[in-house]
Amino acid sequence: MLNELYEKRAEQMFPRLTRLQIERLDPHGARMATKAGQLLSEPRERERKMFVVISGSLQVTVPGLAEQVIRPLGPGDFAGEMSTLRGVPGFARVTVQEGGEVLVIPDSELRVIVQTDAELSELFMRAFILRRMGLISTPNSEMALIGSRYCGHTLMLREFLARNAYPHFYLDAEADEEAAELMQRAGLTINDIPAVVGRGGQAVRKVSLRQLAQFLEINPEIDEQAVHDLLVVGAGPSGLAAAVYAASEGLGVRVIESFAPGGQAGTSSRIENYLGFPTGISGQALAGRAVVQSQKFGAQFQVACDAVALHCDRWPYRVELADGHLAHARTVVIATGAQYRQPDLPNLQKYIGTGVYYAATHLEGRMCQNEEIIVVGGGNSAGQAAVFLASGCRHVHILVRSGGLADTMSHYLIRRIQESPNITLHTHTRITALEGRHDLERVTWTNAASGESHTREIRHVFLMTGAAPNTEWLKDCVNLDGKGFVRTGADLSKEELAAARWPLQRPPYMMETSLPGVFAVGDVRSGSVKRVASSVGEGSICVQFVHRVLKELPALFG
Ligand SMILES: Cc1cc2nc3c(=O)[nH]c(=O)nc-3n(C[C@H](O)[C@H](O)[C@H](O)COP(=O)(O)OP(=O)(O)OC[C@H]3O[C@@H](n4cnc5c(N)ncnc54)[C@H](O)[C@@H]3O)c2cc1C
Repeated sequence: MLNELYEKRAEQMFPRLTRLQIERLDPHGARMATKAGQLLSEPRERERKMFVVISGSLQVTVPGLAEQVIRPLGPGDFAGEMSTLRGVPGFARVTVQEGGEVLVIPDSELRVIVQTDAELSELFMRAFILRRMGLISTPNSEMALIGSRYCGHTLMLREFLARNAYPHFYLDAEADEEAAELMQRAGLTINDIPAVVGRGGQAVRKVSLRQLAQFLEINPEIDEQAVHDLLVVGAGPSGLAAAVYAASEGLGVRVIESFAPGGQAGTSSRIENYLGFPTGISGQALAGRAVVQSQKFGAQFQVACDAVALHCDRWPYRVELADGHLAHARTVVIATGAQYRQPDLPNLQKYIGTGVYYAATHLEGRMCQNEEIIVVGGGNSAGQAAVFLASGCRHVHILVRSGGLADTMSHYLIRRIQESPNITLHTHTRITALEGRHDLERVTWTNAASGESHTREIRHVFLMTGAAPNTEWLKDCVNLDGKGFVRTGADLSKEELAAARWPLQRPPYMMETSLPGVFAVGDVRSGSVKRVASSVGEGSICVQFVHRVLKELPALFG
């Protein structure tokens, strides 16, 4: 059964090419005669090709646990999907229904077409994106993930698949009958969960993130010896912006991302303060669009791929990956963001955005008008949040692990807190339980000194516990501030530059670190505004300096 999306958006999903458009495509491919029954393409084939029907017809199906027949394609129609553009294995089987002729376009040429022919680019990109949406909305694939709803690792793998827009079949070992059958066929027991199973019955037991990415061949093949103009590490909003702008300006760009595109923003169900989206946009949708956009311009993406070290002893620089490979690049953008410190609570993720928040703006303030709320943290951000929220909330409880605020919060904020009748400070206290069927409904906190616990009907918790930057992989290559964020541009003092042996007459450019040609953007940068828009702005601005450095560094390093 096909999803209704296939009917509603049929015209855009399956546009018919005109004779003139096919003439423009001709030089990019080779014509091939076809015979009825001939197999043109199988799911999971690495070598990606797009087929344009010149005469005769093709049948497109998606094999899997329940085979889907997509539709017959006639003259002027074309077969292909996002994976064709990315050069990674796809999901469909293409066979010849009625013999005739097809134009075969390899993926490398397809990328040339979308970068050079605006009209065809729009037509193909829209069709590919919608076809991928169609595949996702009717879950089916040659591969099934079998997991358990009670397993956090399963949830992480499912999130990975969802955030990478990967069509798949998910079966819950405890709830789905088909899971038992498939497990029996693949020789799996409950102890092997989560496991991934392919059509041929091949399975990976207790599958890790990296194993899953390898099994799916989710990343394109990359020439490990190639020296890239720009290596972007981290695909949150700042890294994605750097990738889109750099690739669109003709630079050879490689992006490596330890999980999935979107970063912290990718975990937000609705971003309402990003320019141009008056009704809000989910972080995942925003990131998905940016990835497609950067891939259209030729950026190469690798997900489930961790940078573990920056080697800066010689130029071009080398970034060591967790799988042992080295990525070589003339310039590097550090866009690895930050991670909010989180209390160790097993079900915390469930309530993020539905009762647990990392920001206290007017938006969140409105959501908890006249309610009793909790702010966790003893720093200035927690103090500001508590004072701000107290103006609209019934009562604000501040929870801190320490014995007070004096060492961590500005005096003026402590005074305001003391003077606010509806703020209570709970020292030596931390949250020990969150409860609620869907949204947060109840919170328990425990005082470490007395051992006493209290449970209250509280639906809003603000975590203002500070963010820790993802900079451990940078070792001693770039200057970091006291909290581990990367110092850039004018924030680097003469002494810091001298200590880093800054080799140029000029000072570092905006967002350039103490290492020439290595930039830091977004949340990972010392002093940055921790917002989606500012991260996107920084990622895009830094590209103009990348161009300058690319002209400058060969002369410096030889
Ligand atoms: C729940 C939530 C909701 C938010 N809502 C809003 C909002 O509504 N509006 C707003 O303006 N801001 C919001 N923010 C803040 C905003 O999301 C961040 O400011 C923004 O995402 C920062 O972007 P970034 O690219 O600098 O870093 P990040 O988004 O942190 O992305 C960094 C990326 O780098 C990857 N990475 C880390 N280390 C490595 C490594 N060693 N190798 C490879 N990859 C690595 C990470 O996996 C991640 O994908 C929200 C944040 C959160 C957590």
